[in-house]
Amino acid sequence: MDTKAFKRSLHQSDKYFRKGFGHDEAVAGQMQTEYNSGLIQQIRDSNYGLTRGEVTIRLAKAFGFCWGVERAVAMAYETRQHFPTERIWITNEIIHNPGVNERLREMNVHFIQVVDGVKDFSGVESGDVVILPAFGASVQEMQFLNDRGCTIVDTTCPWVSKVWNTVEKHKKKAHTSIIHGKYKHEETVATSSFAQTYLVVLNLAEAQYVADYMLHGGDRDEFLAKFKNAYSEGFDPDVDLERIGVANQTTMLKGETEAIGKLFERTLLQKYGPQALNDHFLAFNTICDATQERQDAMFELVDETVDLMLVIGGYNSSNTTHLQEIAIERGIPSYHIDGPDRIGPGNRIEHKPLDGDLTVTENWLPAGPITVGVTSGASTPDRAVEAAIERIFELKAVPAAIA
Ligand code: SF4
Repeated sequence: MDTKAFKRSLHQSDKYFRKGFGHDEAVAGQMQTEYNSGLIQQIRDSNYGLTRGEVTIRLAKAFGFCWGVERAVAMAYETRQHFPTERIWITNEIIHNPGVNERLREMNVHFIQVVDGVKDFSGVESGDVVILPAFGASVQEMQFLNDRGCTIVDTTCPWVSKVWNTVEKHKKKAHTSIIHGKYKHEETVATSSFAQTYLVVLNLAEAQYVADYMLHGGDRDEFLAKFKNAYSEGFDPDVDLERIGVANQTTMLKGETEAIGKLFERTLLQKYGPQALNDHFLAFNTICDATQERQDAMFELVDETVDLMLVIGGYNSSNTTHLQEIAIERGIPSYHIDGPDRIGPGNRIEHKPLDGDLTVTENWLPAGPITVGVTSGASTPDRAVEAAIERIFELKAVPAAIA
């Protein structure tokens, strides 16, 4: 499919919207009421710290809702206002936050169900309104919805669209897109749908394996088995790694994305020499500012003395998981929760260790004075962070509940 031509024609359609509908003032008030927090503002105004009794909270200097998420949620709210009687669908979670998605369900927005790993669009009819979430949708989904005669409200974050444009450039020059991301993540699924030939690498170790293959060759079958499901149909590592461009899922660890870019640049420089480098490697700059700021703020926070870290965000939120990784690397006990209800009753917390299943830890708040570092992913409203902090204050205010 000529994805560029399709996108161009979609953008000209009168059933396609990628801006709001002029209800921004009403929606801003609604979002302020539902998601903002007086306590969090107070902590921000006190140099990101607050002490009550034995508990000192240190907040990361950048956390929570990013610009792209706020924009997507506001557009979804506006869509409901603008189409009060139409049936409205969303192709996926609007953002990775259970509370926000629940709020949309209450507003009678339907979520496309996934049956046996496949999205079931059978209920979507001509004339329905379909919202595409902040991390986008595959070009095939967009084409399907357009062909079905749906009105499409596209809330894809412009940072994600920027990555798609990068991948289009790779395609134009017949370069393979190497995408640093999680091949199952919706954003990477969408990004890879714009590529002609692609390979998704999860981390630096996988990128190193690919770089070694580029330089020295290797076992083709082993390569294809290792990256099963993470490459385009017909991908051949012996042919398709000669000319590459790098792109990324916008919420990966910034330092790792940069290291992967440099690794491939070095590798191709070594293989083809400086004169031919530009024919084999396309540089990139698609790291999202919000991800970068939140990770930088987390590095700053873990440099302070904190006894433990609370990381709040959806369990399938990539940017939240990376924040937790930073705490783990520094050896700080960290608890990733998807909402305040995971704390309590009593001194217990239900949380998700990195790459593990949900688990309950008793007596997670130690006795005596403590400093708790707090951050949250780009999909988490301040209101959820406030509620989690209030629970910590409550727990420490009741000595009998503390071990
Ligand atoms: S994290 Fe970045 S790319 Fe993702 S929605 Fe927010 S601003 Fe956009």
